[in-house]
Amino acid sequence: MEITQNFDSGNIEIINCNSPKEIEIEIKEDSNSHFYQWFYFRLSGVKDTECKIYIRNAQGVAYPKGFQGYRVCCSYDKSNWFRHETELIGDSLAIVIKPVRDIIYFAYFVPYTLEQHYALIASSLRSEFCRHEVLGKTIEDRDIELVRFSSNPEKKGRKVFWIIARQHPGESMSEWWMEGLIEQLVDGPKTFVKQLLKECDIYLVPNMNPDGSYRGNLRTNAAGRNLNREWENPSLDKSPEVYFVKRKMRETGVDFFLDVHGDESLPYCFIAGTEGIAGWNKQKQAQLDFFKGRLAQLNPDFQTEVGYPAKRPGLANMTMSATQMAATHNCLAMTLEMPFKDTIDTPDEEFGWSPIRSKQLAHSCLLVMAEYLSGFC
Ligand code: ZN
Repeated sequence: MEITQNFDSGNIEIINCNSPKEIEIEIKEDSNSHFYQWFYFRLSGVKDTECKIYIRNAQGVAYPKGFQGYRVCCSYDKSNWFRHETELIGDSLAIVIKPVRDIIYFAYFVPYTLEQHYALIASSLRSEFCRHEVLGKTIEDRDIELVRFSSNPEKKGRKVFWIIARQHPGESMSEWWMEGLIEQLVDGPKTFVKQLLKECDIYLVPNMNPDGSYRGNLRTNAAGRNLNREWENPSLDKSPEVYFVKRKMRETGVDFFLDVHGDESLPYCFIAGTEGIAGWNKQKQAQLDFFKGRLAQLNPDFQTEVGYPAKRPGLANMTMSATQMAATHNCLAMTLEMPFKDTIDTPDEEFGWSPIRSKQLAHSCLLVMAEYLSGFC
């Protein structure tokens, strides 16, 4: 019996792997940080053997509620993933399973590895409207990558839409969402895409945190920085990912901004606005209400009742991407959250929240973006 985690996005530490009856492991802390919750590992040599796996440090994670009523993601082949019950026993998260093959993978959510990211970037370039740009390098010398969809970038008066994902690398559903969006832009209905790109350029950063993704971090980059607290004053040394993206945004301008995340605890899809910025007004509220309202109409998994409480004007945390974009570029800027577990109103008993549902949500978002473009820009 072996446990392996030394691969792209892997994370686990072995405490005791002598008997399948009591496999003891711990989740490693993010690089230079005390956050942890993302795990991804392979167990082998256990076909038809009942295994009891205990994640011993499950109650010290960043979001302990995330493991209440949680079902772990499992796969025998890394492409088909299913959910399996877990139980919280004291400080441990227990997984009891009898694998039907010699190899089984476990992960906090269906992984989106850096290799998948590179394949996604390459696939986006099948579109005649897509161009690729390296904005800079991460601390570990990886490319910070931008793809731009535009049919006529030279034309004056075009609107500029920016979407970023995976500032928090453990929130892999956000890059599944990006894959869904890119699929629509590359292979979606031609007249729809053409019409959309006639009026606007879409800038995408599908993975803001490649170092953290590769390292199997939950929230931070290689320097231990939470990138979504670096937007007020990004540092070239400690948060180059934000530094280079923000610099490009200054160059292009921003008319619409969306930052895509996953939430460990809340079993809902929701959008957080930027009501806490100083210049919040009725017009901005109407823009936000339109986007959220239309998305809820188009996609049953999205709702507007539950989310983070809105801050009062002037109380915003200005270190976050959405508040910075809203204040700097005076545009609609939002944070989209998807669950790790499932939506409580539209549950999927078999798969929970999943890559396919993340992608469907992206399709709906693109439709609402097109309506927002014609109605508000
Ligand atoms: Zn997040």
